[in-house]
Amino acid sequence: MSDYYQLLGVSRDADAKEIKSAYRKLALKYHPDRNPGDAEAEEKFKEINEAYAVLSDDQKRDRYDRFGSADAGAQFSGDIFDIFASVFGGGFAGSRGGPPQRGMAGEDLEMGLNITLEQARVGESVEVEVDRLGVCDRCEGSRAEPGSGGRQTCSTCQGIGQVRTQSQSFFGTVVSTRTCPQCRGLGEIISDPCNKCHGNGRMQVSEAIEVSLPKGIDAGYRLRIPRQGNAGVDGGPPGDLYVYIDLAAHEHFRRQEDDLHYSLGIGIAQAALGSCFEVPTMEGPEVIDIPPGTQSGATFRLPGKGMPRLRKVGMGDQVVTVEVEIPTELSPKARDLLEAYAQEVGEEIHERETLLERIKGFFGKKKNKEAAEA
Ligand SMILES: [Zn+2]
Ligand SMILES: [Zn+2]
Repeated sequence: MSDYYQLLGVSRDADAKEIKSAYRKLALKYHPDRNPGDAEAEEKFKEINEAYAVLSDDQKRDRYDRFGSADAGAQFSGDIFDIFASVFGGGFAGSRGGPPQRGMAGEDLEMGLNITLEQARVGESVEVEVDRLGVCDRCEGSRAEPGSGGRQTCSTCQGIGQVRTQSQSFFGTVVSTRTCPQCRGLGEIISDPCNKCHGNGRMQVSEAIEVSLPKGIDAGYRLRIPRQGNAGVDGGPPGDLYVYIDLAAHEHFRRQEDDLHYSLGIGIAQAALGSCFEVPTMEGPEVIDIPPGTQSGATFRLPGKGMPRLRKVGMGDQVVTVEVEIPTELSPKARDLLEAYAQEVGEEIHERETLLERIKGFFGKKKNKEAAEA
């Protein structure tokens, strides 16, 4: 995933005019019509158009600036040639990719990837196993059995890949074209299909690929790995691989955007008297000072101990939330001490009967008094 500003070669505070002019220059340079058969140029053209689609839209640009990745919410949808046409007008070389592309493009693939907080923090490269349709190793994608006659021009469409049909209607003759059913649009028929792939040109493969995680990536983000989807057929370009990121639960921390939350359980005496505590951070243990009289729910910040801000400078914080734990079991001695403590500070400990007795006594006296006054 490249940075959209870098792709267009503009600064982060570039205005709409600069962005448009940068886009025009690059789009003309990398347009498929000017680079026939150049897969790299085609990929670049795709990226430039995505970048322009996002940066030319104030709302999308704002979102991209704040969250780093427009991919977070699948911002880009639509046809890159529509974007191109909106800038250049419809007049450019018939637009849609120029001459008909050879072969069939491979399908895009999707996969989930569960990463650890540690991996997201350092921006590691992770090796993943991808099951995809690769080029058949027997026929090398030609779809024909090696040594056989190979391929013949489709007789149904004469190699065009499309057939025209004519029908009569109230308004006259209607001519329409559709994909040739005989060759499925490929223009050729394989007379002796490859034994391994049965003439598909592709076979199931399992491959290890490297996914490099940007520092600070979070659950819900999508990474696009160009050309790692299914192989194309008959020289068509491969599809892309989309990796959906999920974050595994961590034994200590709960992530909230760039901050890491840690819950510190302490005793009632520690809360009242104050104490130092050792808490884990992503960089190792750290000592924090809990002052006397700390309430349950109080928070303490460890600046810069959180997660790196995705594509931005700086780090989030670690937030330590104190939870005062009330003991549920007391030794006889602890009970005595707590009772003595309660007496000292005037915290009355009642039993239900004595309290009811007292309330009754209070109302009883009141009634007597009212009776005496009457
Ligand atoms: Zn084959
Ligand atoms: Zn055909």
